[in-house]
Amino acid sequence: MIGKPRFGKYGGIYVPETLMPALEELQRAFYKYKKNKRFNKEFNALLKDYVGRPTPLTFASKLSKKLRCKVYLKREDLAHTGAHKINNALGQALLAKYMGKKRIIAETGAGQHGTATAIAAAKLGLKCDIYMGEVDIERQKPNVYRMQLAGANVIPVSSGSRTLKDAINECLRDWAASCENTYYLLGSVLGPHPYPTMVAYFQSIIGRETKRQILAKEGKMPKAVIACVGGGSNAIGIFKAFLPYKKVELVGVEAGGLGIKTGKHAARFADKKIGRLGVLHGTMTYVLQDKFGQIYNTHSVSAGLDYSAVGPEHSLLRDLKRARYTYATDKEALSAFKMLSKVEGIIPALESAHAIAYLPKYARKCKRNDIVIVNLSGRGDKDLDIAVKELGMKK
Ligand SMILES: *Cc1c(COP(=O)(O)O)cnc(C)c1O
Repeated sequence: MIGKPRFGKYGGIYVPETLMPALEELQRAFYKYKKNKRFNKEFNALLKDYVGRPTPLTFASKLSKKLRCKVYLKREDLAHTGAHKINNALGQALLAKYMGKKRIIAETGAGQHGTATAIAAAKLGLKCDIYMGEVDIERQKPNVYRMQLAGANVIPVSSGSRTLKDAINECLRDWAASCENTYYLLGSVLGPHPYPTMVAYFQSIIGRETKRQILAKEGKMPKAVIACVGGGSNAIGIFKAFLPYKKVELVGVEAGGLGIKTGKHAARFADKKIGRLGVLHGTMTYVLQDKFGQIYNTHSVSAGLDYSAVGPEHSLLRDLKRARYTYATDKEALSAFKMLSKVEGIIPALESAHAIAYLPKYARKCKRNDIVIVNLSGRGDKDLDIAVKELGMKK
């Protein structure tokens, strides 16, 4: 075992014996190359010249006036592919290349992680197979085309509910048989060690840039940093740099879906009835499940927040009270989507709109000079169809 597999009692490596050699090889490689000069130089060059980093930290002047505090937006929507997922996809694809792997596999739900992975694989010249549930393939055609254009092979999954969790199962099955030449590229701070630690590491560039940028612009730390939480990678990515500053409040916003009482949501922390300690896809954390351990299907208007488990490090941060977690419903997120588009001319991803939705509530306890930073994890172009329909706009 290399590295720390646990976050307090959370995390770990709950996988069949057959996957252990692959995970041990990955642990060795990650902890070796994260200190390697050539690897870091190449990764940083990719982030700068391909992804377009650093992404700006934008002062939202009109929103600030409206909410009577200083609101800044970290613009991951301006990263290549339009969201933060590319940071992790490129980091891991580069690691795969250094490990001598020729093929990358990944699962995808809405197709956002599949797209980032396919694009990273194209850039680095690796073969790429993406597992995707048949139901999701039907729902997310544009992302299927994007993946195919980037040269990836999209493999339909017809087992179970034919959605994300079945695609993950297929992916793990493939990897157990093919790990000699294949790299499994996981999309969030989930899964068995070292994935939660590794994905957080590749996403921590968001927080390092933000801290530098806010100090340059304002000369002081923010009062709060707010991010939406699906698996939790964009949130951990921006939180990391602020963890040592105890006065900076860290707030994660989960998907409240149709409301906590309906059970149709992805609020693993907020729903005390069905959000329970459990194991899903190799890690121990809060999972939406019944008392027998059967996983509930989640619901959210934003595909990226629609997963039954939350990254294990968030469970620890919550226990430690270092981060606080709340939720926004579909309705609140949609109205935030509309509001930010109109007030600032920035169309956020529906995922990011959950973090924006919490802003007015938070701003009530702020003074004029208090700084609040929201991680705008992605842009909303992908969500226009859903948003137009839900908001009842005329086509
Ligand atoms: C996938 C996605 C998310 C949710 O994933 P995290 O791992 O929680 O960051 C949030 N925002 C956007 C734009 C996404 O594509």
